[in-house]
Amino acid sequence: MRSVEEHQRVVLGDADALPAERVALLDADGLVLAEPVTASWPLPSFDNSSMDGYAVRVDDLAGATDSHAVRLPVRGDIAAGQEAAQRLDPGTVVRIMTGAPVPDGTEAVVPVEWTDGATDVVSITRAPDPGAHIRLRGEDVAAGEVVLEPGTAINARVIAMLAAVGLAEIPVHRRPRVTVISTGDELVDPGCEPGPGQIVDSNSYMLTAAVREAGADAVRVGPVRDDEEELERVLREEAERSDLILTSGGVSMGAYDTVKAVLTRLGGVDFVKVAMQPGMPQGSGHVGSTPIVTLPGNPVSSFVSFEVFVRPLIRRLLGHAELQRPRLHAICSGEFTSPAGKTQFARVRLHMRDGLLMAEPEGGQGSHIIGGLARADALAIVPEGVSRAAQGDELTVMDLRGGA
Ligand code: AMP
Ligand code: MG
Repeated sequence: MRSVEEHQRVVLGDADALPAERVALLDADGLVLAEPVTASWPLPSFDNSSMDGYAVRVDDLAGATDSHAVRLPVRGDIAAGQEAAQRLDPGTVVRIMTGAPVPDGTEAVVPVEWTDGATDVVSITRAPDPGAHIRLRGEDVAAGEVVLEPGTAINARVIAMLAAVGLAEIPVHRRPRVTVISTGDELVDPGCEPGPGQIVDSNSYMLTAAVREAGADAVRVGPVRDDEEELERVLREEAERSDLILTSGGVSMGAYDTVKAVLTRLGGVDFVKVAMQPGMPQGSGHVGSTPIVTLPGNPVSSFVSFEVFVRPLIRRLLGHAELQRPRLHAICSGEFTSPAGKTQFARVRLHMRDGLLMAEPEGGQGSHIIGGLARADALAIVPEGVSRAAQGDELTVMDLRGGA
């Protein structure tokens, strides 16, 4: 039997980030930078005020106190968006707003709160330190500086920087297109009343959402009947237009395990047993030149296999350096058993108690128990050699909270 780590390596294979393309700024959210980004101007790009107040010369305010206000004439106003006014003459002030360029000769900005706010002759009751409340040109970023490295995951904070340096089109690794195919004669779509022996296809919806949450585009196909000819036709067609194909079901030892039957006939896909619970039967390889991962049919097995094998692959295609979910240490607050010789991925709920992260095992750990899966927010990774987790044991958990 193959270990989890070994199968992770096989599924990743020599996959690489997809080629670069340019996309509009907001379309880059969730993607990964493919080239370094250089600032073509400094940030801030001009000296400006960080407060609403008055641009002053420091010497003019020596000795200003509450009981001895200094009175100075106000020589105009500068709002954000306006050009810097004429020079600031000694013995005068200019009223200035946050973000407005400071006039030449300004040594500090006095916040309006230290003044009476007048627009003709202002009374100021405190002397500022030199440079106070002036944001200097280039103090954030210098012109020509590399502000973001390739491999940077783009999020709202990164988008702020991309916008600030004026980029409208962003060089990113192309978003993968992942096709999700569910298989099984028993499956009907949500919204249809299941007949005798039928169930609703939850996997293709779960996997489509999981693909999207991982940052890729997902195309849902299914349910496809347990019919070899039909499945082969769908697989060949989808391989033409996908960066990755995922199937669910049809890979165990049953008589109608069509995914295994078709792909064994076509070749290029290895079906193996992985020493894990849930999710023992796994397959991976290629249809034509398109990578395919065949996930087990049981919903929990399907989900766990996606998390452990497929999500890292999608992240690799997106160009991420970090492929794994955050791993946290948590204290077990219940008890459960784990099969000998297999890595178990147990569904747990996380909560804080007295400043410690606690992991509460979900009641039903069967691979068909969708309720426990829906309630879980982490997977506890119980290593092969451990057969039981007890209250107070330290667990390593894969944190499923949060999207990409
Ligand atoms: P299989 O591997 O096709 O034998 O499926 C194993 C189990 O998972 C069976 O109980 C199936 O009914 C169930 N199953 C397969 N596909 C799906 C699906 N798309 N949604 C929900 N359950 C499924
Ligand atoms: Mg089936």
